[in-house]
This record gives sequence, C-alpha cells and structure tokens, in this order.
Amino acid sequence: MKPRVRFAPSPTGPLHIGGVRTALYNYLFAKQNGGTMLLRIEDTDQTRFVEGAEEYIIEAFQWLGVKFDEGVGIGGNYGPYKQSERKPMYKQYADQLIENGWAYYAFDTPEMLEQKRKEYEAQKKTFQYDLHTRETMVNSLTLSKEEVAEKLANNEPFVIRFKHTPDTEILVNDIIRGEVRINSNTLDDKVLYKSDGMPTYHLANIVDDHLMEITHVIRGEEWLPSAPLHVMLYKAFGWEAPRFAHLPLLLKPDGNGKLSKRDGDRLGFPVFPLQWKDPKSGEISSGYRESGYLPEAVINMLALLGWNPGNDQEVMSMDELIQLFSLEKISKSGAKFDLEKAKWFNHHYLQAIPDENLAEDFKTTLTDKGIDVPMDKIVKVVGLIKERIYFTKDLWEQSHYFFERPTSYDEQVIKKRWKEGTEGHLKQIANILTSVVPFEKSAAHDKVMDYIKGNELNMGQIMNSFRLTLVGAAKGPDLFEIIDILGVDEVICRMNAGIEAIGKMAK
Ligand code: GLU
Repeated sequence: MKPRVRFAPSPTGPLHIGGVRTALYNYLFAKQNGGTMLLRIEDTDQTRFVEGAEEYIIEAFQWLGVKFDEGVGIGGNYGPYKQSERKPMYKQYADQLIENGWAYYAFDTPEMLEQKRKEYEAQKKTFQYDLHTRETMVNSLTLSKEEVAEKLANNEPFVIRFKHTPDTEILVNDIIRGEVRINSNTLDDKVLYKSDGMPTYHLANIVDDHLMEITHVIRGEEWLPSAPLHVMLYKAFGWEAPRFAHLPLLLKPDGNGKLSKRDGDRLGFPVFPLQWKDPKSGEISSGYRESGYLPEAVINMLALLGWNPGNDQEVMSMDELIQLFSLEKISKSGAKFDLEKAKWFNHHYLQAIPDENLAEDFKTTLTDKGIDVPMDKIVKVVGLIKERIYFTKDLWEQSHYFFERPTSYDEQVIKKRWKEGTEGHLKQIANILTSVVPFEKSAAHDKVMDYIKGNELNMGQIMNSFRLTLVGAAKGPDLFEIIDILGVDEVICRMNAGIEAIGKMAK
C-alpha cells in the first residue's frame, strides 16, 4: 500500500523551521515510497487565526521545492482540505461518540471551572477534568437524561469531552520511539467539540486523518502527549489507526531548550523560511530567503537536524535525500541548531551556481552603486572570489577593490609591513610589471619572485605592502589574479597613489 501522509499546520503565524522540517520528512518519506503528501490547514481555532499565514505557508514550500500532491491550493479527491470548510462534517462524529458511550456533554461554565481550580490550588493540587473528577462536575454523566435534554433545548453552552475508561493501558507504537505506554487514569477528558459548532484539534485531526486515508502521522514531539488520546479515538470510532512517528525537537544552539520563535533574531539567525511581517504589530522577523540562503542549503541543513544517512555524507540534494531517508534512522534526542553548519551549506551550494548567474545578480548591486563595468569583468571577479563567500550579499565586501580604488590603507598592515626600502622595491616591481608585454600573469609572477628572492627580501613584507597599494588591506585572493583582472595600467596607477599616500602615513 502506498503511504499517504499529511502536513497539517495551523495558520497561527509564520511557519517555524521545525514545522518545515516536519513537512520535509513527510515529503521525503512519501516520495521515497511512491506515496502522496497533502497539505491540510487546521484552522478550527478561529481565535488564533492570523491573516496571511496560510499564503505564507504555501509560498514557503514553493520556495523550498517541497511539493504537495493534494491539499489547500492544489485540490484532490479528499477535500475540502481546510478544516473550517469541513465544519459541518464533525458534529456527527462527536454525536457518534456520545451514542457509543465514548464521550459526554459537559455544561460547566468557565466560572465553575475556575472555582474548581482554586479549590484544588488551595490544597496544593492541580485540577484536571478526568475520570477521577468528572463525577463531581455538571455533565451528562451526573445529570439526568431530562436535565441534559433541557439544557440542550435551552441552548446552554456545552462542550463534548472524551470519556477515558479507567485503568486502561494505552499503547502508542511509535516508529521512532518504540512502544510508549500510558495509563488512562493519568489522562484528562479532553474537549472534542464546542457549542460554537467547531471541533477541537483532537477531533478534527483524527476524523480528517481517517477520511483522508492517512497511513503515517509524522509530526513534532510536542504532539506525543496527545497520541494516547488519538489512539483511543481511533479505537472509539472503530477505525484502524495510522502509524505514528514523533520527531525530535529542534533545540537552541547550546542545546538548552526548544528553539523558539523568539530565539532567531535574538541569536542572529532566522527561524522562519521567509521573512514575516506581523499583520498587527508590524514587527518583522527575518527569513532564510531574505537572509540570502539558497533553498537547497536550507533543505540539506534541515534534513540533517535529527536524521543522518548512517554515514558521514552531509551534502545531499533533494533527490539523494529522497533515496537515503528513513524514519528508522531519525534520532530520539533533540537536534541542536547549528548556524555555522547552515552557513557552510549555503557556501557549498553557492559554489555550484554558474559564475555568469552570480555575476548577473551582482551587476544589479554594482549598478545601484553607480558602477558600470563590462559583464566579462564581473564574471571573472565572481569566479575568483566566490569561494570566499557565504552569501551573495558578501560579494561586494569581498570584491569592492576590483571596482573602486582604495580610499584608505589599513594602518595595522602599514605598521607591520611598510619599511624603509619598501617604496623603492615597489617602484622596481612596477617597472617589472610594465616590462611584461603582452602582460601574462604567471610570467609576471615569476619575474617579481625572482626580484624578491634575488635581493633577499622578506616575501611577506613586500607582497603585503604591494597588496596594500592595490586593495587597501591585507585581504583577497592571489595577488597576480587581482593584477590580471585590474590590468597593468590600473595597477601602476594604484601603486603610485599608494606609495605616495602610505609614504606620508608611515612617516
Ligand atoms: N495542527 C497541528 C499543528 O499545528 C498538527 C499536529 C499534527 O500533525 O497532528 O502542528
């Protein structure tokens, strides 16, 4: 049987990368097994609905290349895929549970519940609506049939709660965690349905997973405590439960606690795939896309947060991930977010982008700065320095000296390298460069090296001083590569200007 899996976010804000990882693992599993993945929007809690969140989720997966086969925005034979559009469907299932003795009406008002909580607190206990306390509450288990009928006829607010059976051992068979056993005596009678006509997450989730023929529920560890109720709901309905796989948490870089929505911008990295502007406060949270990450890098990085192929292989394309992925190899313990690794992946995937494409992009930055240079020069520069960048936005920082003359010279380098005879030697080197006609970088390199060695000069000192005149600092790739791109005339011009300016500074 081909698996059917789902990603079922609630549109309560931007999607956390933990959620993206959940969707990715669902996707990898489905694709590997020739199955189907669907996108279901779980918007039963209208109070938490956030404008734009659904569109954000769809856009994020489009950017990342995670493709749903069915669902919101796509369609399919199991729709509608948005729970608010399925609203009329749920009541009959809640009724069915009541009829079969698996659920009951509860009429306790918020004030009564609050009162109970206070009573318990006074005795240093915590109140839970469960099989120990429900006999003391106002519900269809304690009221007579007539009283219940009357309350319902009077439209008194109610909820429908699940009725756990006492002393039952509930077994959750989890693909990642193995057998998890829970005694029903510890569980609360969760609300399944509210008098506003909306099911809660628990009821809607189980009904939909059943109706949409979901075979595997792959979701975050935070849902593990709900799994026993879900197992019981399947039993109560007489439906076969799907297989469960609860994924480990994503942790803060230091391993101390869950990576929260707030952590990202506080710790200096995005926790959302795309930038998000809160529709109410206007607050902006950074996104991977806007921060310059490539989707391939984000996918590769996320795939390895909690899973590995069982060897040292780190770089994997989506196709390779689909081949290698396995739910069984997902770790039980939380995965620490690693910013350096994320950057490393981005660096890696940037190298695969053709120089021409990077240059095309970079040309816009240059144009914005009022710099107009031929494309072939930009392509050369990009090819030379791309191994030094983590993001395309680093291109300018790493290559500006190809497009503008130094306006200052690093004083530390001057102090360390600029000596008495430096000026004279640089002038000699300038003459050597002009003597190589036509200019050829390896010939120029050999001649300059001969000069330095022949005069028993300090290589580091001369070459760094030379670099200082061209770049303004002690950074950049091989100097003769730089010279080759700048052209000898420009080099001589910069050398002369540098010698003069630095000469003054060094005095
Ligand atoms: N709507 C739930 C969420 O927001 C889905 C949990 C599940 O996958 O069962 O994460």
